[in-house]
Amino acid sequence: MGLLKNLFEIFLPAEAKTQSRPAYSENDVAVTALQSQKTWNEAYKENTEILKGEKWSAALDGKTCIVCAGRDGKIFPNGEGPTIPAHAGCRCARIAIVNPKFAIPGMKMERASMNGPVNAKTTYGSWLKKQPTAFQNDVLGIERGRLFRSGKVPLDKFVDDQGEIIPIEELKKMIKKK
Ligand SMILES: [Zn+2]
Repeated sequence: MGLLKNLFEIFLPAEAKTQSRPAYSENDVAVTALQSQKTWNEAYKENTEILKGEKWSAALDGKTCIVCAGRDGKIFPNGEGPTIPAHAGCRCARIAIVNPKFAIPGMKMERASMNGPVNAKTTYGSWLKKQPTAFQNDVLGIERGRLFRSGKVPLDKFVDDQGEIIPIEELKKMIKKK
């Protein structure tokens, strides 16, 4: 537990200063709260027995792009996968996942959204499903909004592995092939 305590001592004061960032659950530590990625990678390597990877965390509001929304909740090994910021104006963070056996009991498991705190396990996709149709269409566009509500295309399938948005016609072909 000594190591974990040190990690929280390093990260939490910085996190408190970044109000606009997504909130973190009990097991999460903000990578972007650190002063540099290098410092982070070094800290990560010293704590591999308690850290399990990094989770992409996008802001749960209407300004998040499809690319970042689709990545929300995905877990990548330290130093692998897409980097932040994903684009100009990107507000995402890569958050370290702490092994549950090192979790601090009694801390709240929540993350921020534009309509107040939600369960930390909420992803952008599961959150968007609960928003009004007009809001979904604002974020995704009318056609993608329709596909999203049909349940045939999960949010992360609107974008390919390179972060390119897949054209609607291709999406429709993919659905037909299934
Ligand atoms: Zn982003």
